[in-house]
Amino acid sequence: MKKIFLILFVLCHSPLLAKINIITASQDLRSITEFVGKDEVKVESLSNGNFDLHMIEPRPSMVFKLKKADMVVRIGLDLDMWMDSLINAAKNEKIFYGKEGYVDASVGIELMQKPQGKIDASMGDIHIFGNPHYWLNPENGKIIARNIKDGLIRLKPEKKEYFEKNYSDFCLKIDEKMKEWKSIINPLKEKKIITYHNSWVYFAKAFNMDVVANIEPKPGIPPNANHILYLINLIKEKDVHIILVDNFYPTKAAMEIANKTKSKVIILPSSVGGEKEAKDYISLFDFIIKKISAN
Ligand SMILES: [Zn+2]
Repeated sequence: MKKIFLILFVLCHSPLLAKINIITASQDLRSITEFVGKDEVKVESLSNGNFDLHMIEPRPSMVFKLKKADMVVRIGLDLDMWMDSLINAAKNEKIFYGKEGYVDASVGIELMQKPQGKIDASMGDIHIFGNPHYWLNPENGKIIARNIKDGLIRLKPEKKEYFEKNYSDFCLKIDEKMKEWKSIINPLKEKKIITYHNSWVYFAKAFNMDVVANIEPKPGIPPNANHILYLINLIKEKDVHIILVDNFYPTKAAMEIANKTKSKVIILPSSVGGEKEAKDYISLFDFIIKKISAN
């Protein structure tokens, strides 16, 4: 009997059987990591899907999680800079920048809206490396998955084939779903949109939509009366009918604009878990596309 327990103990603590313990910055990255890592990974996100990713407050419990992690997956650019202090505080060398367990999901993404020229405080909380909301184009999900897959292979090279297979299954799934999502969006007449924050440009690019303006006059700055008036005129002039607001932003200004124009406010999750039905990276887009097409 003792022998069996001993064998079980050894098996359970063998590095070959242990799951890779992964901490991600967002629920979107958690979901994609689970698609690629499947049974080989245990993944937890530091943020919830209905929180503003620009504003996550570092907490001691997050440091504790990072101390035990084998791998981190970050959004990168400047969206999850809050993770820098957490990784430093955790003092876990495995997940330091450039180490085997460090994955920046943005590597290889074709960035939109890289600022030109000099950047100063008058520009608001401008994203200095370019727009970081890249996961909202499902095609970029495949690049994120590739970065994660490469990280998993570094940590567990003996499972290379398994991770490669899961990765290519995920890419095929995205390709298949893109056809379905485009077949729903393409026939819609309303392709011009106003968005609260500048978080939907990658989504718009993927589905041939056009972000005409943002309710925030500058990133992170709420609109004043002048900007609201400007938007009302712009909406009328350009014949825009849709206002998208991420579900954690205030809706007051959007509602005011909608009331004075013929436009409609659509409140959407911009991350996995932002709504109950958006439980993974695929169903997030199912939900978004359904909401947009229902208007
Ligand atoms: Zn942003």
